[in-house]
Amino acid sequence: MSSRFWPYVDQHRDAFLALWMDEVRQAGISAQHARVEETAVLVTRMLHDTGFSVTKLPTRGYPVLLAEAGGPEGTVPTVLIYGHYDVQPADPLDAWQSPPFEPTIRDGRLYGRGTGDNKGQHLAHILGIGALRAVDGILPLHVKVVLEGEEESGSPHLAETFANCRDRLRADLAITSDGPMGIGDHPVINLGVRGILSFELRAQGALFDNHSGNKGNLVPNPAWTLVHALSALRGEHGHIKIPGFYDAVRPVGELEDRLIASLPFDPAIVARTLGLPLETVEPWPKEDYYRRLMLAPSFSINGMAAGYQGAGHKTIIPATASVKCDVRLVADQDPVVIDQRLRDYLADVAPDVEYVSHGHMRPSRTPPDHPALQALADGLTAAHGVTPYIQPALGGSLPDYVFTHILRIPSFIIPYANEDEANHSPNENMRLDLFYRGIVATAEMLSRVAEVMKR
Ligand SMILES: [Zn+2]
Repeated sequence: MSSRFWPYVDQHRDAFLALWMDEVRQAGISAQHARVEETAVLVTRMLHDTGFSVTKLPTRGYPVLLAEAGGPEGTVPTVLIYGHYDVQPADPLDAWQSPPFEPTIRDGRLYGRGTGDNKGQHLAHILGIGALRAVDGILPLHVKVVLEGEEESGSPHLAETFANCRDRLRADLAITSDGPMGIGDHPVINLGVRGILSFELRAQGALFDNHSGNKGNLVPNPAWTLVHALSALRGEHGHIKIPGFYDAVRPVGELEDRLIASLPFDPAIVARTLGLPLETVEPWPKEDYYRRLMLAPSFSINGMAAGYQGAGHKTIIPATASVKCDVRLVADQDPVVIDQRLRDYLADVAPDVEYVSHGHMRPSRTPPDHPALQALADGLTAAHGVTPYIQPALGGSLPDYVFTHILRIPSFIIPYANEDEANHSPNENMRLDLFYRGIVATAEMLSRVAEVMKR
């Protein structure tokens, strides 16, 4: 399938590439508080030049830009597009083949910090909106592009900003393009994410490490205390034993099962990705693999510490023990509720264990029967020539809840960068052809969304 937007995009390839390179030259690193404001100024100018009106949303953090274009709100559908203009630190510098903030083309890719994460991706949206207007002579919808400058520092003010600006951010749906595409750079639409609850359990025994022979049976062992607490929390096969833990889990719908059935499952690729023997992965039913990966909660022990870990052997009863854990949550589990249930349960079954919260993030899931989904999928198909995979959720956690929970709108995560974009790593890059395809994809998707959601 070809797209009516290709001639326009082909005609402007050099200009679009120049804009992308300009943005990559701006080293706005939120973690180091370096040049973030300057990057916001450049991005604002670029948005103005592309025909957007730009304002800043009130925030306690780095500027959150709200760029708008198109028909009057309320008369046409409104689409919100989210991205971020800050980047990760570039270290280690000597591992880069070309300097991270001097964008360089090699083998059909643009190399530089932020090429894929996230500049090439949000710029493709901005230019795609421009392409739609230029080719059709009109924007058949209202677009709100929200670009923040703190994503690489964990978006500490995003939820607050969104909650304070609900009215200004009102939209019919949200699109985020971040992260890599599917295996083999296959286009993919993700309908949600798992949430996360991170915490640490600590136990104290005697005031100091004791001789296990002279004091064994007399002095309590905090490592055993944690072992008992952990086995009270999770059963051998993964069942989480906190009372009421599964109460809010949204049942997997028939449509979600159908989406899973259409996803690829190559045991050799999965085994390689997981670092497991092929014999382990081969018998897994595909449905079970995806359900466990995306739609079921999980309980992981991330690290444990107690006693002597050095060479040889030391016969002691340690004085302290600790374990770090995360629980992945699925729609519609509320991390605040789960956190409280976990505290109550521990107080009951392991009163000597101290619970230390390390933060949490809410899960999200957009129902697959939303009318925009097919329009988005058809738009991607027109740009890429292949049908996208539609995943009910990602296994990982992103602040997608700001759309689904705070703004209460459906959210679609549609990555534009290549699978090997090396985001956060040295030699970050994005394929040039995927950048241009992204521009066409945005124009195609938005024109179709405008059609199906017409008022
Ligand atoms: Zn990133």
